[in-house]
Amino acid sequence: MKNNKGTPINILNDNFGRSFPYLRLSITDICNFRCSYCLPDGYQCNGKPSFLSIDEIGRVVEAFATLGVYKIRLTGGEPTVRKEFTDIARRISHCSSINQLAFTTNGYRLRDHAQEWKSAGLTHINVSVDSLNAERFHRITGHDRLHDVLKGVDAALDAGFEQVKINVVLLKGVNDHELEDYLVWAKTSPVSIRFIELMQTGDNLDYFRKYHLSAEKIGRTLEKMGWSAKPRAMEAGPAQVYTRKDYQGSIGLIAPYSKDFCKGCNRLRVTATGDLRLCLFGSQGISLRHLLQYDAQQPLLTKLIHDQLAFKSSSHFLAYGETGITPHLASVGG
Ligand code: SAM
Ligand code: SF4
Repeated sequence: MKNNKGTPINILNDNFGRSFPYLRLSITDICNFRCSYCLPDGYQCNGKPSFLSIDEIGRVVEAFATLGVYKIRLTGGEPTVRKEFTDIARRISHCSSINQLAFTTNGYRLRDHAQEWKSAGLTHINVSVDSLNAERFHRITGHDRLHDVLKGVDAALDAGFEQVKINVVLLKGVNDHELEDYLVWAKTSPVSIRFIELMQTGDNLDYFRKYHLSAEKIGRTLEKMGWSAKPRAMEAGPAQVYTRKDYQGSIGLIAPYSKDFCKGCNRLRVTATGDLRLCLFGSQGISLRHLLQYDAQQPLLTKLIHDQLAFKSSSHFLAYGETGITPHLASVGG
């Protein structure tokens, strides 16, 4: 639905005054990395996976676009392990209401494909780089690929993506002392560094207890170093952005345990097998897949999605250790 200026009207609103212009769409649970906080034993195949086909993806995107969603992020697992990744991007970018098509990647294929993916219509990219030290990167991710991933980031900057963000999960005693190295990177390069507070999931409780570092502490450190927290724009989402004069890039802090984190929630999720997830840490998902089989099902699909918003709760209960049905973020699309 559009207003008289042709702008999509967001009609996905919940009972707490939030609206949802943003969909995180997982296209696979599979990942080739073994990040210690996510899939420490690597991807475990549980039967033959049946991820949404390109046609099903097209239909789910059309339905969300009809409901006013204009930003899609492809995620996983590692979204770029899907051999149809470029075709999926192209298909979504043909949907005229989608004006931001982002993806989150571990960057292992980026160096060789940045230009192709940009040409397919992807506009924004987040690359996970959990250490700037090759040996530590290897230890955290299970892959000795730092050099390739950094070349991939350069390739993304050269390809002209509208925004290149670097995701870093800060881990106590593992990589937290690298904070300044990341800041140096943002000084000389137009990258936006996102420090993400480690989240507890169903599978990582011991790890979480050992390595969790509070985002509040990181925020205080940034302020002491002269970074200023920018006032949050209504539609900006849950990240707290910090800027500093003379820096080309910016810093974002994702603080899921902070008091008001969920007040800024602006996103919904669909898993790689087509379940709608209202919250990353919710206790249920509802399948949309039966309504993704024919174009003629679109009215039923949009109604189902729209009506589900009534069940979105005001916040997650992570602070109480309730991780819902999420064993690890690769299962939902972080
Ligand atoms: N494989 C891609 C990647 O790593 O960028 C996309 C999927 S991954 C689940 C998305 C993001 O979630 C990554 O930046 C990753 O570091 C982050 N992540 C995964 N598990 C996490 C956890 N338990 N706490 C905080 N962030 C996590
Ligand atoms: Fe794979 Fe991303 Fe999870 Fe690392 S964080 S194991 S790259 S899905």
